[in-house]
Amino acid sequence: MSIHGYLFCERCKVNPKEVYGPFGESCLEVHHCKTTVSRMDEDHVTDLEDLQVLCANCHRIVHKELREQGNWLNY
Ligand SMILES: [Zn+2]
Ligand SMILES: [Zn+2]
Repeated sequence: MSIHGYLFCERCKVNPKEVYGPFGESCLEVHHCKTTVSRMDEDHVTDLEDLQVLCANCHRIVHKELREQGNWLNY
């Protein structure tokens, strides 16, 4: 996530501070990869691999893709 000292979108690798200026980070959002209830009880450990930092654009697209696939489990 902030391995390099700054936050960037994990999908398009954009560094919003470079693109949008000092407050660009506010366009970054955290996507929870495994939000399905069925998985929650079994191994519900929210480790960092379940989280993805995405810019607002990519976040939209990811959710759109998930809907189109109709498959929330494999993402
Ligand atoms: Zn992005
Ligand atoms: Zn999301």
